[in-house]
Amino acid sequence: MELNAEQQFNDIQSNLTTVKQRIVDACKKAGRDPASVRLLPVTKTVPAERLRIAYAAGCHEMGENKIQEAREKSEVLSDLNIKWAVIGHLQTNKAKYLARFANEFQALDSLKVAEELDKRLQNEGRSIDVYVQVNSSGEASKFGLSPEGVRDFVQQLPKYSSLRIKGLMTLAIFSSDHDRVRECFVKMREVQAMLRQEAPDGLSFDELSMGMSGDYELAIEEGATVVRVGQAIFGKRPLPDSHYWPGMG
Ligand SMILES: *Cc1c(COP(=O)(O)O)cnc(C)c1O
Repeated sequence: MELNAEQQFNDIQSNLTTVKQRIVDACKKAGRDPASVRLLPVTKTVPAERLRIAYAAGCHEMGENKIQEAREKSEVLSDLNIKWAVIGHLQTNKAKYLARFANEFQALDSLKVAEELDKRLQNEGRSIDVYVQVNSSGEASKFGLSPEGVRDFVQQLPKYSSLRIKGLMTLAIFSSDHDRVRECFVKMREVQAMLRQEAPDGLSFDELSMGMSGDYELAIEEGATVVRVGQAIFGKRPLPDSHYWPGMG
């Protein structure tokens, strides 16, 4: 069934209201200030024309998993004041594209990418917020540094002056077992606490980007400051997750 623009607007707005209310409720339950959690709408696979409607409904930040899709949308929607976050793995040779339009990169997990991205940002005269991705579940299909490897990795980051290191990002295990999902989030809190002691001066690890449509309330209970929510706002994606996270399933 095709919805007209007004129905799409109402649909997105009502989903946003629901998600925001659930964020507030999760914060209350955890004794946290709702203002300490940022909702990042994830727009992968949602067509640009629908994103215009989403923008009108209040989505002014958008998270995209693939650089090519993000880049195309940022061009088509360049008349809107959207802040783009790239939240998926980046190949070194694509860093130049990201440097042109993204406000934020949440999936840093290699020094090669850090180096190239920093260089390209210097060329553009820009700097961006960066999150280091950690593989909190230990699954081979997931990108990110091992929790044990993060400490050494971040020692190298101060020299990349265009990367404003803000925190950590993770994807928890996809499981209906809440305890196993929670374990991933708890591990992130531990890594964050360790880095607050041991990271070089000038880097900040106050932000924890964790939690998606299926687990954002749990993530908030465990300290998430950014939740990345797609399907709960835009509806179910047409293809299974294995399509978006190669190597899965
Ligand atoms: C797709 C995606 C999300 C959002 O997942 P939903 O199930 O749509 O909420 C969050 N983070 C990353 C890295 C993603 O690729």
